[in-house]
Amino acid sequence: MMVMNEKIIVVGGGIGGLTIALGIAKEKKSVIVLEQAPEFGEVGAGIQLAANATNVLQDLGVMDKIKEIGVFPNRLVLMDAFSGEELSALQLGEVYEKRYGAPYVVLHRSDLHKVLYDACAESEYIELVTNQQVKNVVDEGERVIVTSANGDVHEGTSIIGADGIWSEVRKQFVQDEAVCSEYVAYRGAIPTKEIGNDIGNLDDVYMWIGPNLHLVQYPVRKGELYNQVVVFKSESYRPEIEQTDQWGTPEEMDTVFTGTCDRVQHAISFIQRQRRWPMYDRNPIDTWTKGNIALLGDAAHPMLQYLAQGACQAFEDAAYLTQQMKEKATVQDAFEAYAEERIPRASFVQTSARVWGEIIHAEAPETILLRDTIMKSRDSLDFTYIDQFHGYKVEEK
Ligand SMILES: Cc1cc2nc3c(=O)[nH]c(=O)nc-3n(C[C@H](O)[C@H](O)[C@H](O)COP(=O)(O)OP(=O)(O)OC[C@H]3O[C@@H](n4cnc5c(N)ncnc54)[C@H](O)[C@@H]3O)c2cc1C
Repeated sequence: MMVMNEKIIVVGGGIGGLTIALGIAKEKKSVIVLEQAPEFGEVGAGIQLAANATNVLQDLGVMDKIKEIGVFPNRLVLMDAFSGEELSALQLGEVYEKRYGAPYVVLHRSDLHKVLYDACAESEYIELVTNQQVKNVVDEGERVIVTSANGDVHEGTSIIGADGIWSEVRKQFVQDEAVCSEYVAYRGAIPTKEIGNDIGNLDDVYMWIGPNLHLVQYPVRKGELYNQVVVFKSESYRPEIEQTDQWGTPEEMDTVFTGTCDRVQHAISFIQRQRRWPMYDRNPIDTWTKGNIALLGDAAHPMLQYLAQGACQAFEDAAYLTQQMKEKATVQDAFEAYAEERIPRASFVQTSARVWGEIIHAEAPETILLRDTIMKSRDSLDFTYIDQFHGYKVEEK
């Protein structure tokens, strides 16, 4: 089947793909989103969105919907996973919103995805198509041609690859390998009432840290569900078994977390063990666009999740590209201006996530002492470090 049209083709209907589709539609341009899965959706875990993302959601006019399902936490709290001591906290709420012009929100991924999906489905400019595992993209200059595994062929004016860390579109730019961090995550959201009272303050986001491990906890879906992400470095990792599930096993998780404080032990007892997520990123690249093709989101800058900025960067990408599409005469010009601004920015966040990982997972006692001393002396209203991540506003660029 050949589908002829004058549309911009977005490959991938994740958070990044749907957000850029909304941006393009805002500029009254037609867009088709091709998703490989049989249904649009997200995994059953939580996501944190800082102001650099919620500013974009506000501009897209979906913030009211987000308010119906999200949780607006009071503090981001860093805890010692072994001693149980609070190391540092950052004030959110009103003071945060005033500083950055938008709130910090935590929510269920499928709730966020649904808000974006529903907004796309309502738009007359957006076509959403499933079962389209894109296998080949060709830029002929006058037109682009995208072929899916099932033989469907889509023709358009340009392509945005928003197809995640294992991106097919990225192969047009670079033949690089994903970098295995040797860390794995176990995650999921469970009914809050099942966990009992031993979870601290429900208004806070907790990050528990220790040598080669961390745990993140926060409520989602108006507090009905509690999200937990357990992350640790696998001692049994070896390159030969990377593609198997023989490393980073649940049994290894129990061993690595032995000796952690009661609240962390309690959390681990509730973590789902059926599915594990090996943690990968890629090295930054210096080309995100060529002719009529551009990359966006994890396809462009897959990063470790330690700063909770991967999706936030996809929102920034989408907002900046939308702005350029409004200002530039051609989509190609918009792609070029977009890449020029976004490559240094997202690459900085990508590499900062690795550095933050080194800091929170530090092993050497002298490093831990220095880190904790600095953390404890930090005021909860000191946004100096956070400004560079949460304070990015597209309209000021
Ligand atoms: C444990 C964990 C916790 C995280 N926490 C946070 C957080 O708190 N805050 C934050 O900002 N970020 C967080 N992230 C990062 C965030 O999840 C990603 O950066 C974000 O989902 C990227 O969105 P995306 O749309 O670019 O890619 P994806 O979410 O990967 O979406 C890509 C889409 O493309 C589809 N696709 C793939 N290949 C093809 C193809 N060939 N053809 C058609 N469709 C295709 C996929 O099915 C998918 O729907 C976390 C990541 C992890 C692993």
